[in-house]
Amino acid sequence: MASGHTVLMRLVASAYSVAQKAGVIVRHVIAEGDLGIVEKTCATDLQTKADRLVQMSICSSLARKFPKLTIIGEEDLPPEDVDQALIEDGQWEEILKQPCPSQYSAIKEEDLVVWVDPLDGTKEYTEGLLDNVTVLIGIAYEGKAIAGVINQPYYNYQNNENQKLREPKNEAKAGPDAVLGRTIWGVLGLGAFGFQLKEVPAGRHIITTTRSHSNQLVVDCVAAMNPDDVLRVGGAGNKIIQLIEGKASAYVFASPGCKKWDTCAPESILHAVGGKLTDIHGNALQYDKGVKHMNSAGVLATLRNHDYYARRVPQSVRNALVP
Ligand code: AMP
Ligand code: MG
Ligand code: MG
Repeated sequence: MASGHTVLMRLVASAYSVAQKAGVIVRHVIAEGDLGIVEKTCATDLQTKADRLVQMSICSSLARKFPKLTIIGEEDLPPEDVDQALIEDGQWEEILKQPCPSQYSAIKEEDLVVWVDPLDGTKEYTEGLLDNVTVLIGIAYEGKAIAGVINQPYYNYQNNENQKLREPKNEAKAGPDAVLGRTIWGVLGLGAFGFQLKEVPAGRHIITTTRSHSNQLVVDCVAAMNPDDVLRVGGAGNKIIQLIEGKASAYVFASPGCKKWDTCAPESILHAVGGKLTDIHGNALQYDKGVKHMNSAGVLATLRNHDYYARRVPQSVRNALVP
């Protein structure tokens, strides 16, 4: 290998740089003011210009550098030539300095599957709840989520009525000094970086769940957790960040709707710090390239005490959600 670095660590280092560029694109689309909203399956299932541009940017950038990868992106886009300005060629040096966990050192490019959610929390993005939004790049090997990168383009952005959809004052600088936006990354066996790990105080049960895709099953399952508090926010990536930063104890989503690109990067980062993400029955999710995209049996994720929450899922909810 010419560079001396493993395929996995080179891919994570590239994904980090690509995710940072994605964050810049997400902010530019807001600054330009035309979101180009398209309804996919219904009024709560949306696609914007940012979803389209970011997917083109991420998938083309990674495919150029790693032509044998399998890359699966959320958006169904017509094949077209990608603007050179969308291509990111960088590799984050700090990641290349890290050791590759030995169990992954012999992985070949063609063994990896990359799951891309170019913009997670699109509904909230269109409503100006900008800090709910993340860009997710998840990496799977042998069906398992093993590494991931999450960019949060509007980290440090305080949402309030006056700031809604206004151009951010601080254009992000790429790198650790960035004022607006951040990038979190992790590899199983190595750890996760770019945030401060924190736990909810012992004995408190704070549930985070969907804001815009709720239904009776979701409501019933959350109520059965006997929560001290319930946070209804957008985005799977955003909810995993709440778990690792001590804002929520469990992410409970007892419904189909969430897909593999929503969970691969968040699961990798959560697992890298000892947490657990499963379906609502407690089963591990699979990320092989041929797998069904929908997480039909919902999502249950925790940093600690997964069993405590899994035991409280009502039988009626279990019966309704078939893997
Ligand atoms: P939420 O917690 O509602 O932000 O959902 C997390 C992720 O799953 C987002 O990417 C949503 O778009 C997706 N999702 C959840 N439920 C649905 C649904 N009913 N239809 C389409 N996407 C959904
Ligand atoms: Mg999503
Ligand atoms: Mg998306």
